[in-house]
Amino acid sequence: MSTVPPPESLTKSQTAEPLLIRRAAVLGAGTMGAQIAAHLANVGIPTLMLDIPAQAGANDPSEIALDALGKSKPAAFYVAANAGLITPGSFDKDLPLLAQCDWVIEAVTENFEIKAALLASVLPHLAKNALLTTNTSGLPVGRIASALDSHRERFFGAHFFNPPRYMRLLEVIATPETDRAVLARFAAFADRILGKQVVFANDTPNFIANRIGIALMFNAAELLLQQGLTVEEVDALTGPALGWPRTGTFRLADLVGIDVLAHVAANFPQGVTQGKFAGVLAELTKRKWLGDKTGQGFYKKVRGADGKDERLVLDLNTLEYRATIKPALPALDMAKNAPDVKERLRMLMSNDPAKDKAAAFLWPLLSSLWNYSAERIGEAAPDAPAIDAAMRTGFNWELGPFQMWDAVGVVSSVTRMKTMGLSVSPAVEALLSQGRSGWYSADEQECFEPVKNQLLPVLKAAGHARVADFRRTQKVVRSNAGASLVDLGDGIGCLELHSPKNAIGGDVLSLISSVLNSDSDAVRNFAGFVITGDRDNFSMGANLMQLLMLAQEGEWHEVNGVINRFQQMTAAIKFCPRPVVAAPFGMTLGGGAEICLHATRRQPHAETYIGLVEAGVGLIPAGGGTKEMLLRAIDAAVALAPPDPRDPPSRFAQSAEMAAALKRVFELIAMAKVSTSAAEARTMGLFAPSDRITVNRERLLLDAKAQAQTLVQSGYMPPQPRTIPAAGASALTTMETGVFLMGEAGYASEHDQKVARWIAYVLAGGRVTAETPLSEQYLLDLEREAFLSLCGERKTQERIAFTLKTGKPLRN
Ligand code: NAD
Repeated sequence: MSTVPPPESLTKSQTAEPLLIRRAAVLGAGTMGAQIAAHLANVGIPTLMLDIPAQAGANDPSEIALDALGKSKPAAFYVAANAGLITPGSFDKDLPLLAQCDWVIEAVTENFEIKAALLASVLPHLAKNALLTTNTSGLPVGRIASALDSHRERFFGAHFFNPPRYMRLLEVIATPETDRAVLARFAAFADRILGKQVVFANDTPNFIANRIGIALMFNAAELLLQQGLTVEEVDALTGPALGWPRTGTFRLADLVGIDVLAHVAANFPQGVTQGKFAGVLAELTKRKWLGDKTGQGFYKKVRGADGKDERLVLDLNTLEYRATIKPALPALDMAKNAPDVKERLRMLMSNDPAKDKAAAFLWPLLSSLWNYSAERIGEAAPDAPAIDAAMRTGFNWELGPFQMWDAVGVVSSVTRMKTMGLSVSPAVEALLSQGRSGWYSADEQECFEPVKNQLLPVLKAAGHARVADFRRTQKVVRSNAGASLVDLGDGIGCLELHSPKNAIGGDVLSLISSVLNSDSDAVRNFAGFVITGDRDNFSMGANLMQLLMLAQEGEWHEVNGVINRFQQMTAAIKFCPRPVVAAPFGMTLGGGAEICLHATRRQPHAETYIGLVEAGVGLIPAGGGTKEMLLRAIDAAVALAPPDPRDPPSRFAQSAEMAAALKRVFELIAMAKVSTSAAEARTMGLFAPSDRITVNRERLLLDAKAQAQTLVQSGYMPPQPRTIPAAGASALTTMETGVFLMGEAGYASEHDQKVARWIAYVLAGGRVTAETPLSEQYLLDLEREAFLSLCGERKTQERIAFTLKTGKPLRN
């Protein structure tokens, strides 16, 4: 095993303190500048956004850009109010404001002269310690640096990917003059505060991700022309089958913009992008068929004779559009049965290229990807893991090129490449000559480095971890098909959700209930718990398939049992003698949201889409979700207008504050609202102000663990079941009137209204006198009554069946 120290810049970022960025500025309010400003605002950094001055009689371009940001799709802001943190301005009058900024980001047109001229005018206004970065996609960063009269030691490339809120990669490109300590502290800031995966890239054309990703795109297109494939076939072959996004090659090109691609391609060293396809690209650019931005590129949307949108596709040989044809690629259909992407790759690549169209295309494509990537080690990137990370987080691939290569098998694939006459990189020859069978060690903790000819540790920033890392090194205490209890060390246990399709079924219910039960061994042995997982989504909610089958067979006793077990699980979370921190991410729906609502604290990932969506399938939240939202409504009302002991008892239950709080939660549940971010979920009352948000997905687990440890250290004691005053019959009537009016106005179907009336019934505490004391158990019983009744409705069963089939809600 090697003891060679990793590159200096990386080691420093492991321990460096994040830089303090109090205010920032972006120069340029175009596609990237504006969205970078939005992301800075999202994480709470007030940002100046400057651009060229307005044309006579028009608004400033930065003001127009700020206005457009609010409407951008996908949303640039976590919450619309974040726009308030951006101050628009112009280069002609607002440069003095730069003196207050700790970080200035240049994001103007990709043109050296424009960038150099602008930076020259900006430098005199910068604070002495300000950082200055360029977002250039491919201009040499060193060349831009050499045009600077000051700040060279605080200047480097910080290359965001589009859209910056969602794309996790940030390529950082230093020049020989950049201060390494500053760079390390910036990397720590970008990692923790901006949530980025920082990859250090060398100052070579197009850096890492675009270099490899765009070379791949050109190769795919070149193969299409050589092998007589269609655009649809290549998109099918370069999409989810390989663990790549649905957009494949050409839909992605249309999204990115064909002019942008041509621009990046122009930076490539001779040879890579000079084939026949370069001619196609030049012609498309000339015709202004630039993709989505001009309404046509490789695809074109037209209105068909039936009035419906139809997508046409370009024939790359004739440059004429034609109707799309569904690709017939049996190998892809077969591969769909593989359990994961590694197995899928093995299946696809095991076919004979002489007989199978897919293999004939994928062998030369992936071979060139792998060998081209191997040659970038030590040239564009420090090592293979950096390239893998760049492709995963810059192009949203499930696996990086070296991980894909390992999955298919390096030894056998190199033999095959040689038989097929494909070229093989000296880097992989070096690997094989050492007798190794893959790039990574079996546990992926080490990776072969061909420049030094050694196995080196795969660096992970401090604070990054996934549950799988603990599964490898600590013990899995208990496990079933849906969930596991994994020891995170330091007295904290992790309840990992990993059920098929992330649904909460019997296995999840029983594991969580038995682990968090106050008499359990786990509660004796651990001081605190975290509930989270490693997948893309926290949970899609209760296992609807199980429920539908029971309901269709009229097994009401069983349905009642499922609700009971759900309620027992959420009660076990809430009243566990140990603190329980829920760390949700991605889709956190229905029962997944209820788990979070019952936890002591939540530590959500910034990209958490949470909602009590049961109404969408004709049900109500009955795992304690409706009750918890009612408790929150009461607390919100009490905070605004604490009850006065001299008032009659019904005064508070009928107060305007209570009515307003109740209306909010009623609408949240009845309309099945889902947050578009964790920050928005806070404004919806699903997360509390005390719940901290983690921006970097890789930090979520350890942030949640730290939160649990803090609760332990501060002497955590569990809550006691509460008794609350019922809002009662008059509040119920008010809500029911609202439902009736929604129905009259055509906003709610009859079944929507039925569901909404049940939600109102539970929230009011039934048809009782205001201020009647209600226990939590009583409210749970009301939830169960409503749920059981709705389960028996044909329309609810139709909704569930439809959602299971299509993933969408049915409005019946
Ligand atoms: P854009 O064309 O959308 O915006 C460029 C901005 O520069 C405009 O607001 C424009 O007003 C301003 N500008 C034009 N001429 C100027 C001048 N003479 N002086 C000062 N400002 C001027 O471009 P973009 O896509 O936002 O790209 C900006 C930078 O980010 C480029 O360097 C680009 O390579 C890089 N980048 C782009 C993407 C992408 O997907 N678009 C991704 C990563 C990096």
